[in-house]
Amino acid sequence: MGVCNHCGDCIEGCPVAALKLDSGGKIQWNNEVCIQCDKCLDICPVSASPKTSLYSVSTLLELIRENLPFISGITLSGGEATIQLPFIINLLTMLRADSELHSLNCLVDTNGSLGKRSWGKLLPYIDGVLLDLKSWHTKRHRVLTGVGNGKVKQSLKLLTAANKITEVRLLLIPNQTDYQDYLVDLCETLLQLPKQTTVRINAFQHHGVKGIAKTWENATQLQIEEFAHQLEMAGINNLVLPTVYLENI
Ligand code: SF4
Ligand code: SF4
Repeated sequence: MGVCNHCGDCIEGCPVAALKLDSGGKIQWNNEVCIQCDKCLDICPVSASPKTSLYSVSTLLELIRENLPFISGITLSGGEATIQLPFIINLLTMLRADSELHSLNCLVDTNGSLGKRSWGKLLPYIDGVLLDLKSWHTKRHRVLTGVGNGKVKQSLKLLTAANKITEVRLLLIPNQTDYQDYLVDLCETLLQLPKQTTVRINAFQHHGVKGIAKTWENATQLQIEEFAHQLEMAGINNLVLPTVYLENI
């Protein structure tokens, strides 16, 4: 996920005129009229989204406070939440100092691209991390995402040692991801996870993807269940599988 540079290239492609540049040259998204067709995401040359809203730390804290009767925690998510690291550290610092909000369970959903120093700044404020591992070998990861996965594996190691890994997510893309080629190495790492950590297998589906990923096959229920069986045979028991498959709808 890229960061929007307000070039305005996505404006004309919006079928309902939900996008415009404001007087300061910043992209504005009208949530009220947006029909969530995602054409703007396909158009964007830097893989950013114009569908964003600006919040201050104090506005977000008030939003969390309003919802307090209905929640036990928050998850910092999005394209990649840690792109906004100074903001989320500021938010969490204020939240932990707040007498009403301080005990909320705080999770971060990430692709694991933070380095050791940045994790050191973030970990004191969070309870756990949901981490995406998109392939085992760094070359395959580079083919799929454009970058190697050295930092993801370092993050996994660091979070395991700190007992802050809530969930590891494996996205299965038939003929693309390589988990089954490196099953022994993968399972060796997964077996070291803290007992409470879940391993979620996600099934690749075309919905919301762009570029070459549109040519990749969807993962079927059978493929997911076969992969899960291989992991179970290796002693990985804390698995979470998809509850819905598009092929079954
Ligand atoms: S998803 Fe993007 S292109 Fe589609 S209606 Fe919303 S703003 Fe416009
Ligand atoms: S979302 Fe992409 S295309 Fe739209 S203004 Fe931002 S950078 Fe440009």
